[in-house]
Amino acid sequence: MRGYGAVAIVAVVLLLPISRSLASDAPWQIGLASVCITPEQPVWLYGYANQNRFQPFDGRLDDLFARAMAIQCPEGELAVLITADLCVLREPEERELSLVLTQRTGLQRRQILLNWSHTHSGPMIGTSDLNRYPIPEEDLQRTKAYTQWLWNRLADVAQAALDDRQPAWLAWEVGRADFIRNRRSLDADGKYHRMAPYPDGPIDATVPVLRIDGPDGQLRGVVFGAACHPVTLGGSNRKVSADFPGYARQAIEQQHPGSTTLFVQGCGADANPEPRATADQQEWVQRHGASLGAEVCRVLAGSMQPVTGPLRVAFTRVDLPLVSPPPAERLEQLAEGPFWESHNARRILQAQRLGQPLAEHYPAPLALWLFGDSLTLVALSGEVVADYVPLVAAAVETQPLWVAGYSNQVYGYLPSARVIEQGGYETLGLVSAHIGWFSAQAEQVLKQAISDLQADLCR
Ligand SMILES: [Zn+2]
Repeated sequence: MRGYGAVAIVAVVLLLPISRSLASDAPWQIGLASVCITPEQPVWLYGYANQNRFQPFDGRLDDLFARAMAIQCPEGELAVLITADLCVLREPEERELSLVLTQRTGLQRRQILLNWSHTHSGPMIGTSDLNRYPIPEEDLQRTKAYTQWLWNRLADVAQAALDDRQPAWLAWEVGRADFIRNRRSLDADGKYHRMAPYPDGPIDATVPVLRIDGPDGQLRGVVFGAACHPVTLGGSNRKVSADFPGYARQAIEQQHPGSTTLFVQGCGADANPEPRATADQQEWVQRHGASLGAEVCRVLAGSMQPVTGPLRVAFTRVDLPLVSPPPAERLEQLAEGPFWESHNARRILQAQRLGQPLAEHYPAPLALWLFGDSLTLVALSGEVVADYVPLVAAAVETQPLWVAGYSNQVYGYLPSARVIEQGGYETLGLVSAHIGWFSAQAEQVLKQAISDLQADLCR
């Protein structure tokens, strides 16, 4: 007995100073927080423009969450990532929310990074898209009330993450998702045919995994992603759900009790999960989530690269060029075409009739987070197609690289020059209050802006 006691004392004496120096040497201070944002009152869901959805939701499959990670290192910046199970964030709502967040947290806009999962079974927010939907007054009032409540919940979760900051270590590795398919089916001439699985089309199948550990090496949280529309549940679904990202978070948290998981949407504008929208879609949404969660857990169990500071963050708005409107005759033709052509053609004709000037650019938010030399996160706004992943890689030339879409604002699709040439759904252009189609030059303008922003941050 005496012998064991002596061993125990020696072990305590040896271990204590080590764990203390570990905590004080932690490269990061990280805080994590989660709040439920499931609407309490029935509001319209957002993401499918079909008749079935022109009414409030009918029940709930799973809860929606907003989650935040506050991150700081001794010699670097403080910043907050806020992820949420929401579909879109138009420009007026982004401005409104940014004001609430900066006022409530004392942070500046560039220190805040928003990423929406793009679930198509989450609530409509704000009033920006009303020109597309015949929403009755009573339902509109509930949407407005939900939106105000939501802004406060998002500020709450950001502040809670800031208050939770404690010593932490970060590590990075990438996995692969196997249920993501390109959805732009092309015809024999290489032009857009219809929305259907197209195995030859590009996707970003990577699963970024950022691991967050506490001083004793226990897993505190995970920020992970996938580049894919959360549309396993099709337009027939009228129940609230976070779709596959929510089930993936559940799967990881079951394996790692007490951890907080954040899902970051990638450049998944032209990718869908398969299968989807089936009669047994409620099973498939769980299966896709379980499969993504299992892949994240596999990555967590393997060796990962340490991520160190200093953290440097930047936020800007890049003037992406829009095409000059074609002649009236062509616009009249487009106005009779499929939705992705008619939506803006009709609005351009209307603006011209009223003598309203048309914008030549759209100021798209762009954020860049540099984790020392160990990781670069480029967060693009809009619904970004997979072609932007290699384009961003060529712009920053640093590895490892993490490219997120659906960040800071979701104004509509951001197509590549290749997608614009092929035509189709993702060439729809701006929606809600803003009018116009993106020019094929937009990708080069964005590429240059990313490269310039990185050079500024490294100076
Ligand atoms: Zn979408």
